[in-house]
Amino acid sequence: MLLIEFSSIEQYHAQLEEGSITCVQAVEHYLSRIADTRHLNAFVHVYKEKALAKAKELDEYRKKGTPIGKLHGVVIGLKDVICYKDHPVTAASGILKDFTSIYSATAVERLIKEEAIIIGNLNCDEFAMGSTNENSTYGKVLNALDETRVPGGSSGGSAVAVQAGLCMVSLGSDTGGSVRQPADFCGIIGLKPTYGRISRYGLIAYASSFDQIGIFGNNVKDVALLLEVMAGPDEFDSTVSLKEVPAYTRQLSSDKKYRFAYFKEALDHPGIDPEISKAIASKIEELKSQGHIAEKVDFDLLDYIVPAYYVLTTAEASSNLSRYDGIKFGYRTANPGIELTEFYKQTRSAGFGKEVKRRIMLGTFVLSAGYYDAYFTRAQKVRKLLTDKIQLIFRDFDFILLPTSPVTAFKTGEKMDDPIAMYLADIYTVMANLVGVPAISIPLFKHSNGMPFGLQVMANRFDEVSLLQVSNKLLQD
Ligand code: GLN
Repeated sequence: MLLIEFSSIEQYHAQLEEGSITCVQAVEHYLSRIADTRHLNAFVHVYKEKALAKAKELDEYRKKGTPIGKLHGVVIGLKDVICYKDHPVTAASGILKDFTSIYSATAVERLIKEEAIIIGNLNCDEFAMGSTNENSTYGKVLNALDETRVPGGSSGGSAVAVQAGLCMVSLGSDTGGSVRQPADFCGIIGLKPTYGRISRYGLIAYASSFDQIGIFGNNVKDVALLLEVMAGPDEFDSTVSLKEVPAYTRQLSSDKKYRFAYFKEALDHPGIDPEISKAIASKIEELKSQGHIAEKVDFDLLDYIVPAYYVLTTAEASSNLSRYDGIKFGYRTANPGIELTEFYKQTRSAGFGKEVKRRIMLGTFVLSAGYYDAYFTRAQKVRKLLTDKIQLIFRDFDFILLPTSPVTAFKTGEKMDDPIAMYLADIYTVMANLVGVPAISIPLFKHSNGMPFGLQVMANRFDEVSLLQVSNKLLQD
């Protein structure tokens, strides 16, 4: 078997063209890598036969000299919350045990149309709720750089699949950081596009006004290419913007001088690892020395954003997850002869894991008649204030720089008994989802503990062109 050294889709396509590799060889390579790293627990299912058959079909098709698709033979993994017709999808939850997708997500349809090969679905936190990938019915995922540490979450399997070379690129979902934070913990690129850029049709909902499909990759061009293929209007999701999708891959280089904003409150926060804040502060100095503008902006809302995020997302989750009642699909209690309410109770008690139940209860509480205004309405006001504030900042600046996470990858089990501490670690990522702007984590730094960490860059709504441009530049410097 040929061991392939994957560096980019472009390079892979050049190799296919010159005949030094075939799609079958690429798939065989990944299948053997996946088999050798089973203990990482990144994949839930591997579609071995189908992936090989598709690769064979593509190799034959190419031989005929027909022009190839943008993602011809590109080997992709999907987070277990993204539907792929006739393949299993469970949101890593017992309540969807053995469930098979009856249709494909629009994003997946578009990948396949460009001749991508889907190699399997990837482990994650149950219903994308978590920051460590430890809340999964399939068990935890290990960080391939240090197996005593978590890969981050909730898209932990998707991050490790790219980190450990188990596929070329992967999809995750990002409701409050679930693509950017695992990318940060694993030392790869993770992009959360603008809310409404990629269709959510076929993405299992956690909090619908926050959820976006995101992309993991090793280089900016691959990520840009996937975005280009998946983005754009979809008749099945009315929240997708009708804005034209730019050719991101053709606009990646620029020598513009940018205007960066950053928050002193974020870099001086008591919860941040001093090494992380120092690295970002010196990156800011470096940017200035290259002629960019980087200015401190007052930001007094930082302590409100995690509470607002958890009130609003649990409220939406409690409503979204009410459909899992054991009647329509998925797991149902085997107890015969019980009345309906008891049937629901037993099904949901056994089917959902601890964190999901905690969030359904929290969400139901903040939406209850007596507390609605005190929690839900207030959190909506915070969301509005935050949106206005960020819009003001983007009048004067191109980007906002933030850490992705206040700490590097946690040790396995470290935060499992303290959900509040785990929630607070989302401090830098939830903002982009509350406001709906695009954000990326770029792997720029290495901590003295040996783990990587990233720089998070946020851009204005639908300005992925600039976001990808600046990411490319930061990685090349
Ligand atoms: N860690 C966050 C949470 O648990 C983010 C989850 C996500 O983006 N899906 O809600």
